[in-house]
Amino acid sequence: MRIAIIGTGYVGLVSGACFSDFGHDVICVDKDAGKIAALDDNVMPIFEPGLDSLVARNVAGRRLSFTTDLASAVGQAEAIFIAVGTPSRRGDGHADLSYVYDAAREIAAALVGPVVIVTKSTVPVGTGDEVERIVREIAEAPAWVVSNPEFLREGAAIEDFKHPDRIVIGAEDPHAEDVMRELYRPLYLNKAPLLVTSRRTAELIKYAANAFLATKITFINEIADLCEAVGGDVQDVARGIGLDGRIGAKFLHAGPGYGGSCFPKDTLALLKTAEDAAAPLRIVEAVVKVNDTRKRAMGRKVIQAMGGDARGKTVTLLGLTFKPNTDDMRDAPSIAIVQALEDAGVTVRGYDPEGTEQARPLLPNVTLLDNPYDAAEGADAVVLVTEWDVLRALDLDRLAARMKGSVLVDLRNIYPREEAEEAGLQWHGVGRPDPN
Ligand code: NAD
Repeated sequence: MRIAIIGTGYVGLVSGACFSDFGHDVICVDKDAGKIAALDDNVMPIFEPGLDSLVARNVAGRRLSFTTDLASAVGQAEAIFIAVGTPSRRGDGHADLSYVYDAAREIAAALVGPVVIVTKSTVPVGTGDEVERIVREIAEAPAWVVSNPEFLREGAAIEDFKHPDRIVIGAEDPHAEDVMRELYRPLYLNKAPLLVTSRRTAELIKYAANAFLATKITFINEIADLCEAVGGDVQDVARGIGLDGRIGAKFLHAGPGYGGSCFPKDTLALLKTAEDAAAPLRIVEAVVKVNDTRKRAMGRKVIQAMGGDARGKTVTLLGLTFKPNTDDMRDAPSIAIVQALEDAGVTVRGYDPEGTEQARPLLPNVTLLDNPYDAAEGADAVVLVTEWDVLRALDLDRLAARMKGSVLVDLRNIYPREEAEEAGLQWHGVGRPDPN
């Protein structure tokens, strides 16, 4: 099938590369000419494991191409995916749908034949109705609008796209449903469950899933605080509850609070939907508040670990992206932690294996180094923020030798306390109280 994908970011590029790998004929569109020029030179605009070879293979097979010319891409397509950003609207937390509606207008103006338009961006309930209204108003050719939210995780995006837990399709029309089934046929032959719902329900499923996962993380983070206060070990609590099949072990890792390009903005947008509908989601409201407070509280935790006096001290953050295996810095906890430390008069240094370029404009006062040991030079404390593989097996003796002080704040509970202490470091984890 001939597919056009509007928006060649983390979701659009991975979806386009994977659909082309299934044998579809895909053209990815972006208005960022630099991004398209880089892709034409087989330079990936994002870091995602395995993406460069997947793209190269399908470009060579002539199933995947890139353009800035939306009209020509749309003119040839049988299905058009909208995969543009839906960030938080400045000031009020509503999803900013201007990119989605702009794309819908541009698509509508370029339509020449019947087509299925698929919203893959995460959009509030009712957005599909508005996209349909826009398209009907402008386009002469018939078009069906479908919701097909994406659940891939950055860092494991290709595996997630090719082996999804489920595919959700919100379609109001049997023809549109047939086209979607055809598009995803290679996947459901592999037994990926395909759930067909109304368009509004599909839109809600995506937000409900993200809000639930954010709740699970926030729940275990609060249990971690309780463990610290009363003397329990959150790792054991998480294992003890996670082995219960009704609860499940995933998303029960205590840490610095969730961040990233989805959970923060999606929980806020869901709250706005609920507020507008006068159907408040009080649990999600609490999750958002607790998580916001937590990220800055991690800065205070580091200061406390250094004895409470921060001014003039130097702290090194290891891992800056919101999670490993991505260069994405959007709403990363490191940003709030740096802010809290700098506000207290701390000089911050940092290291990230892939996120340096994206981190630089967001953390302008942080000195970014090329390896963790150089970053630790002269530090009073080192903070492990993001659990990249290269940061899971640090030589702690070497790290300690480069530091001025001896505090290691392990916000991901990676290192055993004994190992850190053997290297002469004072280890502080999350939800794991000091032994005395
Ligand atoms: P992104 O910012 O990486 O990419 C969006 C791209 O769209 C940008 O390259 C931008 O230049 C382009 N664009 C915007 N308007 C355009 C237009 N009119 N024509 C052509 N290109 C246009 O965003 P992303 O992270 O890929 O997210 C896209 C959507 O998918 C969001 O709604 C997000 O919530 C959702 N989502 C993201 C993830 C994730 O892990 N990143 C996972 C699931 C769902």
